[in-house]
Amino acid sequence: MGILARSGYELTPRAEEAEVLVVNTCSFITPAQKESVDTILEMAEYKKFGAVRKLIVAGCLVERYREQILEQIPEVDAVVGTGEVERILDAVEGELRALPAQRPAFLYHDLTPRLLTTPRQTAYIKIAEGCDHPCTFCIIPQLRGGFRSRRFESVVREAENLGRAGVREVTLIGQDTTSYGEDLGLRDGLPLLLEGLAQVPELCWVRFLYCYPNQVTPRLLETIALYPKLVKYMDMPLQHASRRVLARMKRGSHGDAFLKLLERIRATVPGITLRTSFIVGFPGETQADLEELCTFVRAAEFDWMGVFCYSDVDNAKSFALDGKLDEEVIHERRNRLMAIQKKISTRKLKARVGQRLPALLEGPSKENEVVWEARLEGMAPEIDGKVYITDIEAPADSAAAQPGDMVTVEITESHAYDLVARVVEVLDASRRLEQRPTVQGSTPNPLRQIVTGAPLRILA
Ligand code: SF4
Repeated sequence: MGILARSGYELTPRAEEAEVLVVNTCSFITPAQKESVDTILEMAEYKKFGAVRKLIVAGCLVERYREQILEQIPEVDAVVGTGEVERILDAVEGELRALPAQRPAFLYHDLTPRLLTTPRQTAYIKIAEGCDHPCTFCIIPQLRGGFRSRRFESVVREAENLGRAGVREVTLIGQDTTSYGEDLGLRDGLPLLLEGLAQVPELCWVRFLYCYPNQVTPRLLETIALYPKLVKYMDMPLQHASRRVLARMKRGSHGDAFLKLLERIRATVPGITLRTSFIVGFPGETQADLEELCTFVRAAEFDWMGVFCYSDVDNAKSFALDGKLDEEVIHERRNRLMAIQKKISTRKLKARVGQRLPALLEGPSKENEVVWEARLEGMAPEIDGKVYITDIEAPADSAAAQPGDMVTVEITESHAYDLVARVVEVLDASRRLEQRPTVQGSTPNPLRQIVTGAPLRILA
């Protein structure tokens, strides 16, 4: 989107007024593939009437089904794989239907034009791309290529630019953030990077997602504990607790080792919020494996937990494994695990009632404009629960609160996954900035270009 905006294209969220439609696809699991194909077909309908001149398919689905997309959906004019992001202009402007495939090796940097789509106060920074782990259920290494890190200075510069433009919170992402820097010859790459980002004056919160459990080092934990700007939060997908299932997943380890690791994490970073995710219904998962996982979840007491139902992907290694389970059984197992977690979450959130805590104010809720949303540092954007502020205009000192403000909230009510609170104080409102970043990179006045310099309108 940044590349297109910098070249003068106007972006629109309304398909009916776009001249070029870009469908960015996911191909991680079967439901995501289905959703991607459904969206392509839905967008193809716009070619029959309206302004649409071109339909472009981008992203992971292209890495898997490049030829099939072009052969079977004739409305598609061009495809752009994950390694070809910078060719989006060729796809929009050129006549080529199929650009020759490039290896998925693209990695953006601080000068790559980038349009942020997150609320003004928060931004993701991708610090690495690809993965070298052999998890048998996962095709990300095939879609995204081998693990490669962005350069240290590039990440820090991007964070500084975002901070200057009004971003208060950055969330570092990558398929495996804990391996950051290994390919650059950096030891303790992630702790070093976190230390660097903790010095960026405008940022209030720095978090990272997707740790690989056996790469959580004492140095990483000590770094999180040391710097106030590094949120006391860790997202560590464990996938299962049964040694048998983890071995078949080619991830190794087992529940007891994970419990010891959790103990170490909690001892080094007191009060840390822990998130994980599991897959249930992996081929060969027995009732005993599930019981082991349930016992583990009760003992581990995570703050947030996601449970995914295993689904076959034809070129994942687990596709060839025996012992496939019925969809119904898999869903029951998921529900059972989530019911255990719901009780844990309810109890943990209840203990928060009456506490006064810092929160990042996000603005009116999408569902109900009179209710505002905020997040505590233990709540990552989009994936965890939220704090709902119901009296945003009531207290005199909160009347001036604006989205993007750091505030102190008092928790007044708790639910299974969310909290209700009132604002008692606006912290540091003087640092508010009027304008959010639109496009990073060397663009003279990106906002003006997006609004006025538009030969084409593009839905992305
Ligand atoms: S570590 Fe994550 S991205 Fe890498 S192969 Fe395993 S599940 Fe896939």
